[in-house]
Amino acid sequence: MIPKSIVKSLARQNISVLIEIKEHIEHLITEMNKPLQPDELPNSREVLEVRTGGSTTYRLERVSCGKNCKGCPHGPYWYGYWREGKKTRSKYIGKNLPVTETKMVKQHDR
Ligand SMILES: [Zn+2]
Repeated sequence: MIPKSIVKSLARQNISVLIEIKEHIEHLITEMNKPLQPDELPNSREVLEVRTGGSTTYRLERVSCGKNCKGCPHGPYWYGYWREGKKTRSKYIGKNLPVTETKMVKQHDR
């Protein structure tokens, strides 16, 4: 759903501006689809494995809880990272990468 305010302001533009907007949107989509670069990901954890699926990067990480803890580091656990605007978002997945996630996961080859 395109926000109403955007639809309204698009309707007020002339063709050459609309074409510029279209190119800008294509540029944004290309940027958003790029795999996350190392500097967009937290680097404080030990990473055992990295996979990409769509525009999400999955990492198997060991986690230190930062307290006076005898169990540290914990895990390893899978986390998913993706981009929203300029921000990197993340979610905790768990000990295993479930089928719903792995379906789209393919080993990232470089
Ligand atoms: Zn701990």
